[in-house]
Amino acid sequence: MQNMNNSSIKNITISTATKQFLTQPHKLLINGVWVDGVEGKTIETRDPASNEVIARVAIGGSKDIDNAVIAARKAFEGPWSKLTNFERAKLLSRIARLIESNTDLLTEIEVLDNGMPTNIARLTIQNIAEMFDYYGAAAQRIEGTTTTPPRHITDHAEALTYTLREPIGVAGLIVPWNVPASTAVLKLAPALAAGCTVVMKPSEETPLSALLLGQLCLEAGIPAGVVNIVNGYGSEAGSAISEHADVDKVSFTGSTQTGRKIICAATGNLKKVALELGGKSPVVVMPDADLDLATVGIAMATFFLQGQNCMAGTRIFIHDAIHDELVQRVKLFTEQLVIGHGINPATMIGPLISEKHCEKVLKYIEIGVNEGATMLTGGKKLEGDGYFVQPTIFTDCTAQMRIVKEEIFGPVMTVQRFSSLDLDEIARMANDTIYGLSGSVWTQNLSIAHSLVARIRAGHVSINCHGAVGTNIPFGGYAQSGWGREFGQEGLDAYLETKAVTAQL
Ligand code: NAD
Repeated sequence: MQNMNNSSIKNITISTATKQFLTQPHKLLINGVWVDGVEGKTIETRDPASNEVIARVAIGGSKDIDNAVIAARKAFEGPWSKLTNFERAKLLSRIARLIESNTDLLTEIEVLDNGMPTNIARLTIQNIAEMFDYYGAAAQRIEGTTTTPPRHITDHAEALTYTLREPIGVAGLIVPWNVPASTAVLKLAPALAAGCTVVMKPSEETPLSALLLGQLCLEAGIPAGVVNIVNGYGSEAGSAISEHADVDKVSFTGSTQTGRKIICAATGNLKKVALELGGKSPVVVMPDADLDLATVGIAMATFFLQGQNCMAGTRIFIHDAIHDELVQRVKLFTEQLVIGHGINPATMIGPLISEKHCEKVLKYIEIGVNEGATMLTGGKKLEGDGYFVQPTIFTDCTAQMRIVKEEIFGPVMTVQRFSSLDLDEIARMANDTIYGLSGSVWTQNLSIAHSLVARIRAGHVSINCHGAVGTNIPFGGYAQSGWGREFGQEGLDAYLETKAVTAQL
């Protein structure tokens, strides 16, 4: 593995705009104003490539969430509800243009706060501008329907029945750290397009890009109280959102474990709950797969974003006929991946998010060895202060191993071999998981590909590629990977209620 881990922030070049952003005060955005938390608490945020502090950020607790919800409710009932769909679309488009003109800044902030490689960060920032445009356009097409009135009315009078699509109300948005800006905007853009107001809590690990987005929302002219951003811990600010009696919907992206807590907390006022949770996605490689394509595809299915990726393909199933050759090819490719600071343009693998997470991933590697899997490559943390773990491949894995069953959320691939050509049997193997988020099938036989895809129980399955997400393509989980869908029209529907109206004429 090529290690370019000269990662101290002192050794990398960042722009003046980024330096200025990092040194400015980072407060809570409540009711259109940047404020300190009620209790005045702050946390440090660190560059995971060097463990150096890059900024200090105000955090809030339940009182701040209360204030944010009051502001959001007032805005929802006030001027925001008077805007037409076209006016909201125009504001979303303005945010998109501001994101485009701040792409470099947003990219660098995302790299420094999260650790992801620059080319990936840049793509995600370009993508969030696209999301605001997409949902702005979708806002213009929010429409109800007319339908046949009920018989017991039409039996004695003329009548008209139609539906209205209305915003759900105040939406609480709880966001993870693995793709911070992207997972935030996947909620923020459709919520605003629908006419909701929001209280958003970014992850305590990556609080910065959401603050910059808040700044751009204000600059675009989003009215006070419509977008509120409260950084803070999950157990404090996060649970205050999911428990809050005046929040109408909570949209959460994070672990399945936290998802369960959100559901319980939401029972008080039975708020609507949307959950985008964890995964342990299968990658099935049939004997006729294009090995050049599969080599890169499989490696990146697992190692993209250092494996800190909900749709990571971490359970690899390779047919006996090609197993040994493909495994060797994937090993060679993996060992060429350049590990280093995300700011370095050559970097393909950045650091893990934190010391705690790094320890968790290393523990799983130890578990894999103890369970009897063969460690083909990787397995070590790199020397230095950053949290770099080598991309690691385990072969000779079995379905019972913990490294196969549990979401590691790190650069750890597990490979199992199979000999059957029976699609039902292969699908049973792929579906042997509590999750159902993503998956992929690699074959040159399109009949086999589509037949197998139909048998895989997951919300997002690709053929001869992996994780082919797009703004217009619905994404979400079966089973314990979640409730509901983001992206596409379904992502907007998630923030709308349907009201049926019948008028006796
Ligand atoms: P996490 O569950 O620890 O935290 C996610 C967010 O929830 C954070 O903002 C955190 O502060 C908050 N939180 C924590 N405890 C809370 C509580 N009790 N009440 C309310 N909020 C609380 O997850 P993470 O470590 O930030 O992210 C990694 C996980 O996210 C992985 O499991 C990954 O698969 C999943 N993920 C899923 C998707 C998807 O689209 N399905 C996308 C990205 C990440």
